[in-house]
Amino acid sequence: MRPTGKLHIGHWVGALENWILLQKDFENFHLIADYHALTTNLDSSNIENNSVEMAIDWLAAGIDTSKSIVFRQSQVKEHTELFLIFSMLVTTARLERNPTLKDQVRDLNIENVVYGHLGYPVLQAADILLYKGELVPVGEDQVPHVEITREIARDFNRQYGNVFPIPEPKLTSFARLPGLNGDAKMSKSMNNTILLSDTEGEISKRMRTAVTDPQKLRKNDPGHPEVCLVFTYHKKFNSNEVEQIEKDCRSGALGCVDCKLNCASKISATLSPFREKRNYYENHLSEVREILIEGEKKAQAVAAQTISEVREMMRLG
Ligand code: SF4
Repeated sequence: MRPTGKLHIGHWVGALENWILLQKDFENFHLIADYHALTTNLDSSNIENNSVEMAIDWLAAGIDTSKSIVFRQSQVKEHTELFLIFSMLVTTARLERNPTLKDQVRDLNIENVVYGHLGYPVLQAADILLYKGELVPVGEDQVPHVEITREIARDFNRQYGNVFPIPEPKLTSFARLPGLNGDAKMSKSMNNTILLSDTEGEISKRMRTAVTDPQKLRKNDPGHPEVCLVFTYHKKFNSNEVEQIEKDCRSGALGCVDCKLNCASKISATLSPFREKRNYYENHLSEVREILIEGEKKAQAVAAQTISEVREMMRLG
């Protein structure tokens, strides 16, 4: 995950929940992709702080560092070496066909794509394969990147000998939470988020801006929950009341303001233990930095082993 600062509930639903479940059954590597942050923004002044903020969110959400390794990409130099080697195995035409790149260029209005941005999936392949990742927990938009990783792994193995597994994407069943404005994606740049760290008051305020069924103009108008964003949030954060809400919305017994406030209180209650833990880590920053340094040592040990195998297979000495 790129370090863009504090995380929002879309990250929780799309990634963190899945990671926390996976740590029961798998050995997990959680990479703070700080080099990737530079592909679309050269300003590096906030990367360190944003990385720590994101690590705090991960820890507060339940990433258990006794089971999972948490580390910053830039602190494990082997990422750049494997990226360079993999760069020889993929054509620019293949990277130009990457649909995610096309989306980013359009959404961010990028006029000139830099080489590092074009090669972003190759660095991602290095991120995954350095740890011989078998499953990659990603959102749907990242599936094409995993496909490029699979191609690179196959090409390397064919050319030099078997070093890498062919990884599979692992999607969550509720992979994407729409933004408060109805946009398909929740993102800070669109200002359509609820942050994991938001207080109950902030969540209520943000929820009041959520789009609902446009045909339900007055409280007693019958509504269509299937087109309502707030109803989508209820399904995720308030599953016990979903049936009743659907019925009352359709009959006109429930108004949107009450429905939104109810949803806000359920989201807030879900995030309450998270906020408490976050508060703890915010007040123990040296502990967070120590966790990162420890993770980086463990990640580096695995990465060094993989690079040594790669060099041996390639007869690089
Ligand atoms: S009552 Fe609730 S579910 Fe129905 S349209 Fe309003 S906010 Fe959406």
